[in-house]
Amino acid sequence: MGRARAVGLIGLEGTVIEVEAQLAAGLPAFRIVGLPDAALGEARERVRAALHSCGTHLPDRRITVNLSPASLPKTGTGFDLAIAVAVVATGAMPGREEARRTVHLGELGLDGRVHPVRGVLPMVACAVAAGHPNVVVSRGNALEAALVPGARVEAVDHLGDVLALYGIRLDRAPDLEPAARTVPGDEPAGSPDMADVVGQGEARFALEVAAAGGHHLLMLGPPGAGKTMLACRLPSILPDLDDDDAVAVTSIHSIAGTFMPSHGLIRRPPFEAPHHTASPASIIGGGNGVPRPGAVSKSHCGTLFLDEAPEFPPAVLQTLRQPLESGQIVLHRARAAARYPARFQLVMAANPCPCGSDRDCRCSAGLRRRYIGRLSGPLIDRVDMRVTVPRLTRARAVLGGLGEPSDVVAARVAAARRLQVERYRYQPWSLNSAAPGRYLRGPDAVIDTDVRRLLERSVEKGTLTMRGLDRVLRIAWTLADLAGADRPDLALVGQALCLRTGGDDAPAI
Ligand SMILES: [Zn+2]
Repeated sequence: MGRARAVGLIGLEGTVIEVEAQLAAGLPAFRIVGLPDAALGEARERVRAALHSCGTHLPDRRITVNLSPASLPKTGTGFDLAIAVAVVATGAMPGREEARRTVHLGELGLDGRVHPVRGVLPMVACAVAAGHPNVVVSRGNALEAALVPGARVEAVDHLGDVLALYGIRLDRAPDLEPAARTVPGDEPAGSPDMADVVGQGEARFALEVAAAGGHHLLMLGPPGAGKTMLACRLPSILPDLDDDDAVAVTSIHSIAGTFMPSHGLIRRPPFEAPHHTASPASIIGGGNGVPRPGAVSKSHCGTLFLDEAPEFPPAVLQTLRQPLESGQIVLHRARAAARYPARFQLVMAANPCPCGSDRDCRCSAGLRRRYIGRLSGPLIDRVDMRVTVPRLTRARAVLGGLGEPSDVVAARVAAARRLQVERYRYQPWSLNSAAPGRYLRGPDAVIDTDVRRLLERSVEKGTLTMRGLDRVLRIAWTLADLAGADRPDLALVGQALCLRTGGDDAPAI
């Protein structure tokens, strides 16, 4: 019996898989058992060809490869390397004990080359946590694997290199096509800066408040007003991710195949802006076998920006409710249910009408209402703030001048967040946007009597719902934190009401 280890991944949760190869008398055959999917089933052909390229051959017997625990669905090509090592270990292999204790992660090419696989970061983290720090990965995955503290990483190019680790000398050097040169990744381009935004003082302020308190934001305005430009700049005023968030975000991008290991762990809040014509799977997550993360998860701890939000299919907008409520998304498939974190800050932009032109617009009031009404209901209910972004006239552009650079705004945002962390140090949340209503209305969140009276009156008159009241309080606390005040006063609550409704001339939603 030959043994090696690999890691199976469902969502971000990894499990160490024991790969056992057994020989039996009988007609030569090669079977893989233990819930493999189609891609994994084809491992037989890749392992056979890769061994051949090393001058080794499959034993002329009945070979059964078992992947355990068998109940766990396994997917993809990352088990190839462990399967090949386990099969070779059924023969005379000096390092078989070492191979048994080592985790192997890699796809085999027909020429024996070891190719990188997705999700190496969470896989290696799982292996190390399970007490198996020795990992063999493709050279293309080495940087990523080495990001896991405690991992002892061996980088290989070819199956022959792996066999050499275990004391098997090849008769001849493998014939290799010259490897495709990996171009070192460019340094991350400087993120767009708030200084580039001309005018739009109100919208800039709304963005700052959204960043400081983690509030969801809707921007309304005609095309060309700069909504997208503003949204793209939200990450530039957000603080760096802490260690736990950085590992989670990097793991998600590792599985999604959108991570550049040469840049180290992802430390900046991600920004995802799926187009409204993108497939639901690319937004929500999905795919065959074990589902892959979509934009809602890739924007975990960052910003999910929906430009022209009313154009998104209603089904997609509805699906956003789950992550907005629970901070995660569960993707059910026939073979497995994968769970991915999806705690994002939602920024939506919308034109006030379907024709998208404010000058020659002939859309009726009813049409305009129906258009923006596509956002209504449970989704819009969770958006804390609305801001109107008017088209910039030349006069406004000149008068508005250039804005503050991002680092100045980011410093205020960071200071406001420190106040929140301090205030909520005994609570399970750390941002105003996450504070539950019963806390905000309760005795722990002290607000002045005149503020309380104003809000009570608004609820009694019906101008504010209970849910709306909670949102106004959350924004008011963020305004207080930005102003360095120890609690929201009447003026700040008035400002919060304005940010909640988008001002008097905003369309009703
Ligand atoms: Zn129109």
